[in-house]
Amino acid sequence: MSIATVNPATGETVRTFEELGPEELDRRLELARLAHLSYRFTGFAERRRLLHRAADLLEEDLDEISRTVTLEMGKPVSQARAEAAKCVRSMRWYADRAEGLLADEYPDEADVKDSGASRAYVRYRPLGPVLAVMPWNFPLWQVIRFAAPALMAGNTGLLKHASNVPQTALYLESLFQRAGYPEGCFQTLLIGSRAVEGVLRDPRVAAATLTGSEPAGRSVASIAGDEIKKTVLELGGSDPFLVLPSADVAEAARVAVTARVQNNGQSCIAAKRFIVHEAVYEEFTAAFVQRMRALRVGDPMDEDTQVGPLSSESGRADLESLVEDALARGADLLCGGHRPEGLGGGWFYEPTVLAGITPEMRIHQEETFGPVATLYRVPDLDSALAMANDSPFGLSSNVWTQDPEETERCVAELEAGAVYFNGMTASHAAFPFGGVKRSGYGRELSGHGIREFCNITTVWSA
Ligand code: NDP
Repeated sequence: MSIATVNPATGETVRTFEELGPEELDRRLELARLAHLSYRFTGFAERRRLLHRAADLLEEDLDEISRTVTLEMGKPVSQARAEAAKCVRSMRWYADRAEGLLADEYPDEADVKDSGASRAYVRYRPLGPVLAVMPWNFPLWQVIRFAAPALMAGNTGLLKHASNVPQTALYLESLFQRAGYPEGCFQTLLIGSRAVEGVLRDPRVAAATLTGSEPAGRSVASIAGDEIKKTVLELGGSDPFLVLPSADVAEAARVAVTARVQNNGQSCIAAKRFIVHEAVYEEFTAAFVQRMRALRVGDPMDEDTQVGPLSSESGRADLESLVEDALARGADLLCGGHRPEGLGGGWFYEPTVLAGITPEMRIHQEETFGPVATLYRVPDLDSALAMANDSPFGLSSNVWTQDPEETERCVAELEAGAVYFNGMTASHAAFPFGGVKRSGYGRELSGHGIREFCNITTVWSA
């Protein structure tokens, strides 16, 4: 895939970029190594100052960078602005909290004595240059949620961004430079995915984080494993959205639409499988389908647009093939299922709802990365939980209930990295983010995220 900005709303190539050659790539890896040698000794006060400065600059640039994001990957511009604003808040959160999150830890005095020490503690030291392989769907947020904690911990960052968001990738490099970070602390590498292996195997690179598809995650994790380098993986999801009889059904249907079509349906934590108790199935389905039909699909630069195009032609083709497979095997089409008329050459797809899903349909097991919802009707909580867990993924989950016993059972039994009740999944800097099963491993955000790329050092004195 060439590195280029191609407008998903029109299909038109706006700008192409040259990949870095081997010499320039080598120079940048060396810069990352050298930068880390001194940056790791900066104090928290200085790191805090730098990250606050970067957050302030991003806030100043909010409107302009949001338009660039929309141009490159097609999300409605109002959502691009919300993404950039969330980055600003989260940068400030880490700038202010990192020192506390990484403070030395002192074990119990009795345990220190038992070990024969007069003094012992744990210190969180940085690892070095960390490679971040990132996707296009939240092209600012996915990077910032790695970079803010990594830089506060004293690591340096190397960004290999998705090939369709090069202008956003270069903007991020310039943001940290303008904020005053020493040269080499945060660099964008304009390289394709084939060049990732060489960077991962380079001894100057200490660790890697990847957000993206399962094949990309498997490749990066196996190379890093071969090199004995730490990885964090955030892969796809097919989050369940359970609606149980005690739910506020009208509110559940309203939130379900946003949970499904946010980011044009291309979010790992979007609710994708709607598992509804038979007692409220008809009511939920009628309200949900009506709202899905009413969504405004169109130019993502238009402030009123709710659903823009998919980010690539191949992304739309993948989605269409999942829908066609389900329909060929007997699924019921409740709305959508086509390319909308009159929107030119962009990669649009109608908000779609399918019911009557059976296990042999591909859509039952695969991730739908676009505005397509699948509906399941279940007789009781046991069947709802079994259906929710019948997925290779385990990122997040959503449950609508007012019943305390059902709530407890869902916390205990849902195979996912998060359970959100009576609302939709949304990441926040203060909460750990990540999954189980094929959704990946490790955690981003919160104290757990910042410690992933630390050398957790035991200091022991006789
Ligand atoms: P990819 O996983 O292909 O892309 C994500 C990042 O990984 C990009 O930077 C890409 O680079 C890079 N990459 C791809 N293959 C490799 C590889 N073998 N080794 C190293 N790096 C690699 O996602 P797609 O854009 O192709 O989307 C495909 C599907 O992935 C989606 O339909 C969705 O199911 C899932 N996905 C999940 C995301 C999430 O948030 N969890 C985000 C994006 C996608 P390059 O762009 O140069 O290929």
